[in-house]
Amino acid sequence: MDRVFWTDPYQTRLDSRVVSVTGSEVMLEATILFAESGGQESDRGSIDGFPVIHAEILGPDIVYTLAEPPPFAAGDLVTTLIDWPRRYALMRLHFAAEIVLELYYKAFPGLEKIGAHIAETKARIDFLFEGSIAPTFPDILARFDALVDADAPITSTFSDESALRRFWSIEGFAQVPCGGTHLRRTGEIGRIRLKRKNIGGGKERVEITLVPEIGTSTLFP
Ligand SMILES: [Zn+2]
Repeated sequence: MDRVFWTDPYQTRLDSRVVSVTGSEVMLEATILFAESGGQESDRGSIDGFPVIHAEILGPDIVYTLAEPPPFAAGDLVTTLIDWPRRYALMRLHFAAEIVLELYYKAFPGLEKIGAHIAETKARIDFLFEGSIAPTFPDILARFDALVDADAPITSTFSDESALRRFWSIEGFAQVPCGGTHLRRTGEIGRIRLKRKNIGGGKERVEITLVPEIGTSTLFP
């Protein structure tokens, strides 16, 4: 299966052949509809007008469950559409989380990430961290804003194509393995807010939201 969401993460419509239909489950030759992995939620979308209610990675393939069994069959040409405002929000929050995480790793060598999740309106990263993580926010945000203002190009490509392993990199900043969908440039993220959530037991959660207006980042420690 050709994962077009990797080669062109900005593509919102794709015509491709159906590989198989089993009840409501569909497999395609090529797809733009991302299936949840690495903490990034699945896209919303449709195949020939039938809403996709679930997307699941199955080895090298992705199985899409439709709201009902479709009339098309293996070999047919179908059109996949994705909910672009949702995908773009996921991509911006995903990359915001990538940068915030790298900045924490640089500022606190040995820091342990214990979880992360990217939803449409909010991303979160959980760390093992003693005490409140909120006092670190001004420095992290200043570095974040500098990287966004630099509008640095982001490269995303395969490290091992047959094993479907990918990475992103920003020259002079970081190279990180990740199978998510990534922006072309850091400037697309804009400003963010960071919010602390104490989840107990020496664990600190950093919540990331996008700031729609042009301006400076705001602190909500
Ligand atoms: Zn990523």
